[in-house]
Amino acid sequence: MKAVVVGGGIVGLFTAYFLQAEGVKVTLVERGELGEWSKAAAGILEYTRFVINRINVKSYPARYLAMVIRGDARIKTWDRRWLAAYLKSLGREPTSDMWGAVRHLGDFSRRHYRAMAEEKNDFQYSEEPLYELWQDAEAALEEAKRDPLAPRVEVVECCGREAVAYLDAAKLSTEDFIDRMKRELSVEVARGEAVEILPNAVRLEGGKTLHGDVVVVAAGWWARRLGLPVAPLKGYGFRTTARAGKMFIDMSRGVAVVPLAKWTKITGRFDLDATTDHKPAGRVLKAAESLVGQFQVIDMAVGYRPCTPDGFPIVDKVGELVVVTGACRLGWTYGPALGKAAADLALGRTAVALPAGRFGG
Ligand SMILES: Cc1cc2nc3c(=O)[nH]c(=O)nc-3n(C[C@H](O)[C@H](O)[C@H](O)COP(=O)(O)OP(=O)(O)OC[C@H]3O[C@@H](n4cnc5c(N)ncnc54)[C@H](O)[C@@H]3O)c2cc1C
Repeated sequence: MKAVVVGGGIVGLFTAYFLQAEGVKVTLVERGELGEWSKAAAGILEYTRFVINRINVKSYPARYLAMVIRGDARIKTWDRRWLAAYLKSLGREPTSDMWGAVRHLGDFSRRHYRAMAEEKNDFQYSEEPLYELWQDAEAALEEAKRDPLAPRVEVVECCGREAVAYLDAAKLSTEDFIDRMKRELSVEVARGEAVEILPNAVRLEGGKTLHGDVVVVAAGWWARRLGLPVAPLKGYGFRTTARAGKMFIDMSRGVAVVPLAKWTKITGRFDLDATTDHKPAGRVLKAAESLVGQFQVIDMAVGYRPCTPDGFPIVDKVGELVVVTGACRLGWTYGPALGKAAADLALGRTAVALPAGRFGG
């Protein structure tokens, strides 16, 4: 069997990995470098905490607007289809099936990352608490306790402030993990931009056509070209020389700090923005400096969180195609399970139900 997987981000890499494990001949199509957008991520694995993806709770639009007014977020890329689907889903509670699905994604992914690290921990994997700095940590704790995923949480002190500690978190180096995947995969990589997706073929810019028994689209927010509501929530990731004792997120500034052995990752911004203007990156560094003091930047990566209106991923068959996208802020957390589910669908098996049809159309 032959498969063409479009998109070499973390989800496309895991899809190729699980297809390869089943003996499928895979061609992976990537317009840039493998992991190009995914590597911007902080690398925090929040196996029991879906709440940060819940952008359609009633209070979210006002909170986001306040961020825009403060200059901590910006809106540059409009998509009527996404907005219409968002307004329809605003305030809608997920079904118990949806909660069951994300619980499965977290459990499967934790087992898989652990197993890979036990085999060889060449990607700085570590299970340790994530500290969230809140203005009102007690209120954040109460909210966490209502979370259907039942995360283990407690209020503690971190960085001289009150924080909610998520005890079942983990971290990894996104850069090292992408290198590990490159070593694990012996698939053909076709460099180029997919411009047309057909049931059994993918046409690349320049005219070349790749054929497969099945096509999987794992191209992040680009999946909206298939008519799905997926928006690009841009953010920036920096490898830096900053020093920090713990992995934490300052929730009021929206900045994450992840200390690793050789560098500290700093990430921020949640901009509805697919443009190539990356000026807001400077604001992330300024905010980070106020948290950890001065540091040098080693390099910067830009990523686009693929977000559906309800923040839940999509793993489904759309016509003849398998589509996997929409992990939003949790693509690394759920990467293994999403890749496995997409591979199962490609092989004609059933997989975790996160249907595209829930948005209509
Ligand atoms: C700043 C930041 C911090 C984050 N922190 C975390 C975190 O700590 N933990 C976590 O779990 N998640 C985090 N995320 C979210 C996570 O990075 C995303 O959910 C994840 O990258 C989505 O993976 P993906 O493979 O679906 O899509 P993407 O990462 O967007 O990858 C899609 C790939 O497809 C390629 N592509 C797109 N269109 C085409 C085309 N037409 N032809 C060929 N190739 C194409 C792109 O070049 C890209 O490589 C963060 C994201 C950002 C931006």
